[in-house]
Amino acid sequence: MSVASGTNMESMKTDLPPFPLIGKNPDEEPPRVRFAPSPTGSLHVGGARTALYNWLIAQGARVEGDTNASFIVRVEDTDVARSTKESEESVLKDLEWLGLQWDEGPVTNGDFGPYRQSERADLYKSVARTLLDSGKAYPCFSTNEELESVKEAQMKAGESPRYDGKWRDADPELVQQKIDAGDPYTVRFKVPKGARVVIDDVVRGTIAWDAEATVGDFILLRSSGVPVYNFCVAVDDATMGITMVVRAEEHLTNTLRQGLILDALGAPRPRYAHCSLILGEDQQKLSKRHGATSCNQFKEDGFLPDAMINYLSLLGWNDGTDREIFTRDELVDSFDMSRVNPSGAVFDMQKLKWINGNHLKMMSIEEVKPLILEQLIKHNVLNSNGASDSINRITLAATCLAKQMMVTTVDAATNAKAVLAYPLPQSFDDLSSVEPDEQKLIKSGAFYNVAKAIVAAYDAGVLPRPNEVNVMEPFEELNGELIVEDNATGGGAYAYPAAWKTFMKTLGKEMNLKGKNLFHPARLAMTGVMSGQDVTKQMALLQLACEFGSAVDLEGGLEVVPLEVRIEMLRGFLETIPEEFRVKKEEVVVKEVVQGKKGGGDRRGEGTAAGVTSDAGDSADLVSTYEGPAFNTMDVRVGRITKVWKHEESDKLFCEEVDVGEAEPRQIASGLQPFFSESDLQDRKVLVLCNLKARKLAGFPSHGMVLCTSNDDHTSVKFCDAPVDAEIGERVWWGGDGVLPENMEEAAAENKFAKKKMFEKIAPYLRTNEFGVCEFLGKPIMTNSGPCTSAMADGGIS
Ligand code: GLU
Repeated sequence: MSVASGTNMESMKTDLPPFPLIGKNPDEEPPRVRFAPSPTGSLHVGGARTALYNWLIAQGARVEGDTNASFIVRVEDTDVARSTKESEESVLKDLEWLGLQWDEGPVTNGDFGPYRQSERADLYKSVARTLLDSGKAYPCFSTNEELESVKEAQMKAGESPRYDGKWRDADPELVQQKIDAGDPYTVRFKVPKGARVVIDDVVRGTIAWDAEATVGDFILLRSSGVPVYNFCVAVDDATMGITMVVRAEEHLTNTLRQGLILDALGAPRPRYAHCSLILGEDQQKLSKRHGATSCNQFKEDGFLPDAMINYLSLLGWNDGTDREIFTRDELVDSFDMSRVNPSGAVFDMQKLKWINGNHLKMMSIEEVKPLILEQLIKHNVLNSNGASDSINRITLAATCLAKQMMVTTVDAATNAKAVLAYPLPQSFDDLSSVEPDEQKLIKSGAFYNVAKAIVAAYDAGVLPRPNEVNVMEPFEELNGELIVEDNATGGGAYAYPAAWKTFMKTLGKEMNLKGKNLFHPARLAMTGVMSGQDVTKQMALLQLACEFGSAVDLEGGLEVVPLEVRIEMLRGFLETIPEEFRVKKEEVVVKEVVQGKKGGGDRRGEGTAAGVTSDAGDSADLVSTYEGPAFNTMDVRVGRITKVWKHEESDKLFCEEVDVGEAEPRQIASGLQPFFSESDLQDRKVLVLCNLKARKLAGFPSHGMVLCTSNDDHTSVKFCDAPVDAEIGERVWWGGDGVLPENMEEAAAENKFAKKKMFEKIAPYLRTNEFGVCEFLGKPIMTNSGPCTSAMADGGIS
């Protein structure tokens, strides 16, 4: 059939455009892949993952020397009503933010453009014309009413509605007459009799459609001359020489129509890869109701592009190992479509955060700083019009403080705000406004005297304060290198950190306090929060915020409580603390007993209010007054470390395989890297707490805890050792005077053994004595071959 002319065909050329892949095998060509967004909204994580996989394919090939590999962005804006320029711009901006730069596409252009479907209308018309001329498509004059009534009849008869083929084999003369009369018509594709489309999908394997049974003759061009979506996609893939189509599963059914069109055109079909949907935690398709889904939102929320692409790559792909952290280059090296799996991937915000935190740690301060600056301005910590020197120093301080702890860059702003505020309540009556831990500390009586001493030091002018000549001291080593661990202070020779250390040491001596009994109350007094970052760093940030001409955004509502005001608030608060909470009472009993036994030594982590004298007691009292969980509810066993390696992502953790007498060794992660080398651990006999709930440490699932002894400030750590002839797997027990109890308690079952509820209650009473014997409540912890010991005397066990 030949159609000479028609209202919607006038401008058509009849030559087929070139199809670059004709006569070639797409699998063997340099990859030409495309991301084809419909600009009807912002770039969502699903689209971003599709773009990423395509980008990785092209980038991977290029790294291997394939200079002709190309990542193409094609804007699919055929749906004029829903497509907007703003959306296109925002999608392109997000792709750029993710670092997924396209080789061909809008803006960059290329040899196969234009790259917007709206600019390719002539091409679609000319291809339609060719298909008409060759009889692979035909004009259809059925009106909407006719089509509706056919559909109704089909539905009534229980058939699935489809075009009835009325004009498929119409008389050519009649067709010509109607065209000449100017009757409107659509161009329909003539689905060949018996046609099948079979694809070998990279992700989903072989998929076949019986075309005739699945679709009726479908429209290519509407009567208005506007091409239909699937037609555009097929023509574009053919004319752009696309070798592989990587897209979302929801487009799978489109492949049938697109495949039929490509076959009719004689253009080789690209290889297809349909990636599974991204699901929310409820296993439903990820949507806005699951929280942030658009890339732009993640950018705003403080996520890094490298962390985003790392996380997105794992939504349906892995490199064949448990590895989860990849840099961009590592992804390019490792990514392989053949390892993309077909099951739905659940979007896990916690994991994304964990990955983001890891990437933040991998970046240098200088790299992170501009991102933190953005957040400090956005969250009204800094005024962007402030003095640049102040902006620079505050940003640096906030970055150093947050570098190792932040999960997103927003955390640095939140942390800075928290540091500058002082949440101590005005009066003891308002105590419920602070966190439970702080309440407990104040009510324990441990706070009052330390805080009072701090106020007194301030009044006497001896409370160390940041060095106004170099406020940044706590953030720097003497050699000028920045310190990123938020609790490590500047080189000891610096005036302020050194003065603070000395002050705390003297205070501790005077009050006979150490460890958390000294540091928690002091922190609470200075910062309004009992635990957290190094006080000198926090005070330095506060000083920067209080300096004359500081760039902090007070007008934007930032709360900054200067030291002077803190001290006055503290003074007022202390006056409201009732008499009964001014002395640390309960723990005095415990301390006195232990002191008595050890001849005056202090217990780790426990202290007493200054001035309380102790009556020497006996450890039996300690046993009788103890009310916590029984030691033997813990499943502590003798084990042997059979394998040890450094955790890939953490410079603190060792990963170990430990034989605890079970069929398989257990995997355990321990924070021992700063204290030991791998050879110290290899083949060592250790004590292992086995019924802790399994937990992930920096992503490594850990099934237990190796018991160690440490000094008060945890700067020295030694192992708890079993006697040489203790047997692997044997249970470690406690029986008062070293005698096996008659009815040894069943160890609590794993999982039910919550660390907080049990171990942390037991741990304060687990110590080594002056001879290094491991003891609970002052009595030895035993194996059947004798007591457990440690190279550290007088240490706490955990
Ligand atoms: N334009 C489609 C979308 O945004 C993509 C179609 C395709 O990749 O073939 O979902």
